[in-house]
Amino acid sequence: MSVTVKHNFDQIQAEIASICERVGRDSQSVHIVAVTKYVSTERAQEAISAGVNHLGENRVEGIEEKRDSLGDVVSWHFIGSLQSKKVKKVIDHITYLHSLDRLSLAKEVDKRLEGKQTLDCFVQVNVSGEESKSGLHQKEVLPFIEELSNYPSINVIGLMTMAPFVEDNEQTRPIFKKLKQLQLSIAEKGYKHAPCTELSMGMSNDYHIAIEEGATFVRIGTALVGNEK
Ligand SMILES: *Cc1c(COP(=O)(O)O)cnc(C)c1O
Repeated sequence: MSVTVKHNFDQIQAEIASICERVGRDSQSVHIVAVTKYVSTERAQEAISAGVNHLGENRVEGIEEKRDSLGDVVSWHFIGSLQSKKVKKVIDHITYLHSLDRLSLAKEVDKRLEGKQTLDCFVQVNVSGEESKSGLHQKEVLPFIEELSNYPSINVIGLMTMAPFVEDNEQTRPIFKKLKQLQLSIAEKGYKHAPCTELSMGMSNDYHIAIEEGATFVRIGTALVGNEK
């Protein structure tokens, strides 16, 4: 692969800075999660050397393998759907869970953390309502978050969504706007277990729009570290 991660990272950071300036946001409020699921541990190391400090994986095996060799110099984000029976394998390795989508998962996380620690979680929302997408429907989000107060290890820092893939990126804008509105309406409640101040949205093809609409965590794979598969 000819283009270095450093080159991509510098370019993405510069772009983010210019978008933030244009829309009047502080660029420090946007965190770049390098999604390394398509690349080797060596390439993930290159990202760390380039200055990335958040890495995301969507499979338990991916996290285990990479974290074993790279350690905890970065924060690890679990961004894929997580089976309850696999929670015990990742719970000690991750600082953020982006895919909290059911109470049984919250229960398992809570059991594994034994009230000694909290885990920062995003509740995953299926804003578009597409059958193939995981996550809660918009109407289910508030009652779900209220129920989460029963699991003291869960700290709902925000909401996450995956926009459907479309040719014209502009079509994703209404989805990001809706997630932002929903996030604000929950933050307004002032729940102690759910400050809900963050928005995990935007990937390689649509992070520009997501940031314009308020994303605080963008999950970028292909455009940052490439795709070796
Ligand atoms: C793979 C993946 C990404 C990154 O996708 P790219 O298009 O390569 O940037 C982001 N979020 C989730 C949940 C993913 O599974």
